[in-house]
Amino acid sequence: MPNVAAMMERSLPGSVLEVLRTAASVASREPESARELYLVGGMVRDMLRGEASEDIDLSVVGDGPAFASALASELNGDVTKISEFGTAAVEAGSLSIDVATARDETYEHPGALPTVTPAGITKDLARRDFTINAMAVDLSNASWGELIDPHGGMSDLMMKRIRTLHTDSFADDPTRALRAIRYESRLGFKIQPVTVNDMQRDCGNFDAVSPARALADLRHILDEPQRATSLERAEELGVLGSISPAFRIAGRSLKAIQDTPDREPIFHVALIGARLTQAEAASLIKRLDPPVDWRAALGAGSTYQEIASVLERSDLRPSEIAELLEGFPVLALEAQLQLAPATRQKAALRSWLEELRFREPLLSGDDLLAAGVPQGPLVGRLLAELKRARLDRTVGTRDDELTLVKRRLPVMLNDNGGY
Ligand code: ATP
Repeated sequence: MPNVAAMMERSLPGSVLEVLRTAASVASREPESARELYLVGGMVRDMLRGEASEDIDLSVVGDGPAFASALASELNGDVTKISEFGTAAVEAGSLSIDVATARDETYEHPGALPTVTPAGITKDLARRDFTINAMAVDLSNASWGELIDPHGGMSDLMMKRIRTLHTDSFADDPTRALRAIRYESRLGFKIQPVTVNDMQRDCGNFDAVSPARALADLRHILDEPQRATSLERAEELGVLGSISPAFRIAGRSLKAIQDTPDREPIFHVALIGARLTQAEAASLIKRLDPPVDWRAALGAGSTYQEIASVLERSDLRPSEIAELLEGFPVLALEAQLQLAPATRQKAALRSWLEELRFREPLLSGDDLLAAGVPQGPLVGRLLAELKRARLDRTVGTRDDELTLVKRRLPVMLNDNGGY
């Protein structure tokens, strides 16, 4: 077993090393909560690649939550959550530490949440997703720094391979498909052909994955800079389609996602929604059951497509552009602007987003009342008329607006029978 203690010294930030040393001393003092203690997961993977990562994952053979609470008090931190699976999170300063009870997992049926039983580190590593994530570093004082790598994770790291530990891995947990793709894009690795085969064979089991879990893994993809590569790959491998047959991403949307690396995730959701049909958006929303901002971002595209051709007309007045675009979420229109070819439609979108939507009449409702407009629906109708006039620049000053009101009021009163 190679010892990576020197590498830990070199690669891990001092604050992380200090937490790991403190954890080791808590474990030696309290063997009933941690008979064995290991660093696991992404930090081991990234350290062996010479990269720093932030989240500390610890696995203890014993009682994770009890150990977490002893560690938190030693670090002057807090235990922030405890789960039914024997895991707990500790926040100490800027560091977050996940503590898990080493466990074995079995799946009652494909895609189900696992049944969990306490186990040793070997079983704990065997339940993990990929070989590169299935390594542990022993943190007990006697064996500090010993690398435990039963599945060839180190060699896969060197060869840049993403490989599952067993052939039914995706049947057990289809969300691993999205994780595999995310690591492939992020690390520049390659999912091994045999793993791709297993993935494509068993992705149908995504049906058993809850909306919340599917959504969480999609969010992880959207949170990473290589999101466009991941989404393209997920579509190519049929993973998006197995989440929902309605889930497809137009080539233009992908390119736009790539071209806007600094935009927030919900903007990228709007880019996906921008080219969906109404039926596709509805079934994707049903499948993912996302929060309201996602619903709006996914759902607005098909409604926009119904009016897009009208925006190509050369004779549209600004007030007509406003009427067409007013009800849309700004984000959805920004997505359409990103996607639109350089035509009148694009110019209309730009003028609405950058200028027209901010144009308001100078007169307020109170001004209209003061000018003699009777309280009631006429106030709103006149304000709307003033707004159209301002959009079309047929009024400039306050006096222009008052003149318009005085001209229109008698006509409206007449039309309305006095109201
Ligand atoms: P990163 O946070 O950098 O994406 P990570 O490896 O820390 O990577 P987490 O999601 O924090 O990822 O998970 C921690 C570890 O838990 C993983 O390294 C892996 O060993 C294991 N793991 C997470 N999700 C799964 C899963 N769906 N199936 C099996 N093992 C998993």
